[in-house]
Amino acid sequence: MTLPVLIAGAGPVGLVAAASLVRRGIPVMVLEAEAALPIELRASTFHAPTLDMLDDLGAAKPMIAQGFVAPHLQYRNRDQSLIAALDFGVIADATRHPFRVQCEQFKLTRILAELLRDEPGFTLRFGATVEGCADLGDRVRVTLATGEAIDGAWLVGADGAHSSVRRSAGIAFEGFTWPERFLVLSTPHRFEDDIEGLADVTYYADPEEWFFLLRVPGPLWRAMFPVKPAVSEEEVMSDAFADARMGGILPGRGGYPIRHRTLYRVHQRVAETFRKGRILLAGDAAHINNPLGGMGLNGGVHDAVNLAEKLAQVMLDGADDALLDRYDRQRRGVTIEVVQAQTIANKQNLEATTPEAQADFRRRMREAAEDPAKAHALLTRMSMIASLRRAAEIQ
Ligand SMILES: Cc1cc2nc3c(=O)[nH]c(=O)nc-3n(C[C@H](O)[C@H](O)[C@H](O)COP(=O)(O)OP(=O)(O)OC[C@H]3O[C@@H](n4cnc5c(N)ncnc54)[C@H](O)[C@@H]3O)c2cc1C
Repeated sequence: MTLPVLIAGAGPVGLVAAASLVRRGIPVMVLEAEAALPIELRASTFHAPTLDMLDDLGAAKPMIAQGFVAPHLQYRNRDQSLIAALDFGVIADATRHPFRVQCEQFKLTRILAELLRDEPGFTLRFGATVEGCADLGDRVRVTLATGEAIDGAWLVGADGAHSSVRRSAGIAFEGFTWPERFLVLSTPHRFEDDIEGLADVTYYADPEEWFFLLRVPGPLWRAMFPVKPAVSEEEVMSDAFADARMGGILPGRGGYPIRHRTLYRVHQRVAETFRKGRILLAGDAAHINNPLGGMGLNGGVHDAVNLAEKLAQVMLDGADDALLDRYDRQRRGVTIEVVQAQTIANKQNLEATTPEAQADFRRRMREAAEDPAKAHALLTRMSMIASLRRAAEIQ
């Protein structure tokens, strides 16, 4: 009997890995700690190549139906003057989905779970908290919090940033935590009526307080602001603090109703390896970054698809399992070289304090907006097509 691939975590990355394996006929058991699929508000940006991958699994169309298409992106100054407007249409030569889709990630996990539900070889166990794991050479053994032991052929740790799999395997999570926290506020207020030509995704560069505005299903506008370390959590979560942040978007306006409020710490960390024997890491278990550019979840989906392809070659075609080291080289390689570097640069561009750095960022964005070749290069990077091409080059 073929042992299943065990996947810790029924988040978007775990379920994309599951769907990618099951469609190739590989049995999968997903172990999820919660009693049901989590529905917290987290990532909502899906980039072009991620949509191409989800489309191969049958999940892109329902995502688009439950979210919406954002074909444009803008950079602005805080006085609302436009720095640059970019149109994802220029990358139509490189993707079937030349746009972003804004859709809450919990909708993706629901869609995937529904697609997988009756598939032979698929098992999803809720209330199954993975506590430990051991590579037994010819198999991997997972221990649940209940003490139950489950054997699998391979284990994919897709159990998020606090991954028990990563800890149990003794894999370090190297990197740093930003001193500021990020505050996310959502409002049904129609900023598109106040700000002429406002794109669905708009980043505001400012040395004092950058922020971004993102239109998400609801419809709601989600705004994200950095919060200085000295401000207490109690103050940050107060209505007065939210009013002050949101009131700063348009002078003389404010008092917008707030539907959701989330404060979180932001890290840049990468696991020291994505593979240790039969134990593999993907998604937030393997890497976390700041949300500027929406690369965390997207990168995790790219891990899952890459890993499933290689596991299938090893399990079905007799490929040497050294192929899985290439998964580590490719995905860890681009995580460090591209995703970490780009998300750090995205933050530094928005918060640039020196006149030279501010002028340089604005000049680069303006030039990209005015020159189709530069726009193509920029949007290929922003939509993560470039990082996938780079990964494919790594042997
Ligand atoms: C406020 C916020 C906004 C964000 N915005 C964006 C964005 O715009 N774009 C973007 O790309 N990314 C964004 N991110 C990051 C994004 O949410 C994550 O990258 C994404 O959730 C990673 O998916 P995952 O499946 O790897 O992990 P998770 O979504 O964390 O899923 C892990 C799953 O594992 C389960 N689990 C945990 N421990 C165990 C265990 N021991 N045993 C079994 N199961 C376990 C959890 O219950 C969960 O279901 C944001 C994050 C936050 C917090």
